[in-house]
Amino acid sequence: MHQSLSDLHWQSGFYELGTNFLTPLHPSPLPSPSLVASSTQVAELIGLDPASFNQQDLIEILSGNHPITHTQPYASVYSGHQFGVWAGQLGDGRAITLGQVEHQQQIFEIQLKGAGKTPYSRMGDGRAVLRSSIREYLCSEAMAGLHIPTTRALAITASPKQVVRETVETASVVARVAPSFIRFGHFEHFATTGQLEHLKRLADFVISHHFNDLQKDQNPYLSLFEEVLERSASLVAKWQSVGFCHGVLNTDNMSILGLTLDYGPFGFMDQFDLNHICNHTDSQGRYSFANQPQVFHWNLVRLAQALLPLIAKDDSDEAIQIAITALQGVLGQFLPQYQKSYQAIMCSKLGLDQALQTTDQVSSETIRQSVIEPIIHLLDQQQIDYTYFFRHLADVIENPENPVLRDLCIDRIAYDAWLQPYLAFLPQEKRPQIATAMRAINPAYILRQHLAQIAINKAQEGDFSEINRLQECLAKPFTERPDFADYAQLPPDWAKTLEVSCSS
Ligand code: AMP
Ligand code: MG
Repeated sequence: MHQSLSDLHWQSGFYELGTNFLTPLHPSPLPSPSLVASSTQVAELIGLDPASFNQQDLIEILSGNHPITHTQPYASVYSGHQFGVWAGQLGDGRAITLGQVEHQQQIFEIQLKGAGKTPYSRMGDGRAVLRSSIREYLCSEAMAGLHIPTTRALAITASPKQVVRETVETASVVARVAPSFIRFGHFEHFATTGQLEHLKRLADFVISHHFNDLQKDQNPYLSLFEEVLERSASLVAKWQSVGFCHGVLNTDNMSILGLTLDYGPFGFMDQFDLNHICNHTDSQGRYSFANQPQVFHWNLVRLAQALLPLIAKDDSDEAIQIAITALQGVLGQFLPQYQKSYQAIMCSKLGLDQALQTTDQVSSETIRQSVIEPIIHLLDQQQIDYTYFFRHLADVIENPENPVLRDLCIDRIAYDAWLQPYLAFLPQEKRPQIATAMRAINPAYILRQHLAQIAINKAQEGDFSEINRLQECLAKPFTERPDFADYAQLPPDWAKTLEVSCSS
């Protein structure tokens, strides 16, 4: 049954942990709030009646102007490593969690990002601008459409209140939804400050609320680390397979649930470039596309250090050494797990999973060396549009004479040299069904930078239609529709000049 927001089944959730973990506070009101966009899908996920988006009360709640009865909003404290350096205490500087709702045996925290200052705002104003809220909103929903684990976005509300970034912009709030917004940085916070009792409470909370099966394990904290590592390896493999670059992979932006979290200067690549840096402020390229799996590993080492006191049976040198060895064993699994996941996805994208199943002689190693690595190299060398290439590969499989991809290449001999051995893996009679399967995994649509920018430009003039149109398209990125044909095209030249930075 669908209900209004106040009538949902609210629970205290994380708030129960108390004031060592959070500060209870209310959002700061925003003048004249209005609804910019709303997701029916996310409303249904939490049991909210989508018709309530038409009601002013909901807009007032989502913009932080009215409290919800029976909930106690809060901002949580965390710390983290930023760009490889310990940054000390951070925390929800502009996100205020309203509480947790349960719907159909699932729990969801509802958080307002841009809801005003908190004790963790440091020098910030506690606000988010419309531009960055639209990017976060569209990308969370685009990721969900791609079946990539992510926090979700329920709605954007906006206000004429001015907010100063590089230029003067206006304030807005994204209502985000996720089973939990707990980050690696939450664990680092309590470990680094020596608050081991609190560290244990946090880990026990995460296990009992989100990884209940692990409670019976011999060492649930080690199992928790294993589980987080597995989810992280799988997540980053998915990102690499769609050409997604997060941009700010600090430990405070790493979800303990393996979700894509905190959309800032992210980008889906147009022209493929292994060294692509999507964050204009990341001058060293620490968070470049190719570095993402390594950065995940580095961040997992930080989480392992934080969990060490819980994993060791006591604080004797011997117990600590045993725990370190166990954690190192798990960490050693990260790269193989990542590679296995990445390879499996790439095989599916190339329609080769069937070849692997049916031909005894073909090993996944052969495929990696003779198809996957060479195509990644070719796309990188020739700066070919990643999404367009994989989407149209199905056309070439159906008709190898189709010039759609060959025409994109500067070095066509290199393309032919890759294509012929690749096609040899695909049995002729199966190609029509292989092409269909490939279209179900290679998206026709991604949130290209220029598409987001067009939606932002229009929204800044008061026209929100493009956000809705893009959202509708990106919710089903594998299904081509004639009315969305423009979104599937190669990007215009001006897209290359777009730059995004941490400013949001
Ligand atoms: P981010 O780079 O967005 O992951 O943010 C890093 C830290 O800065 C987090 O603690 C954020 O809550 C905080 N932060 C970012 N922008 C603001 C802002 N405008 N006001 C207050 N805190 C902010
Ligand atoms: Mg963040």
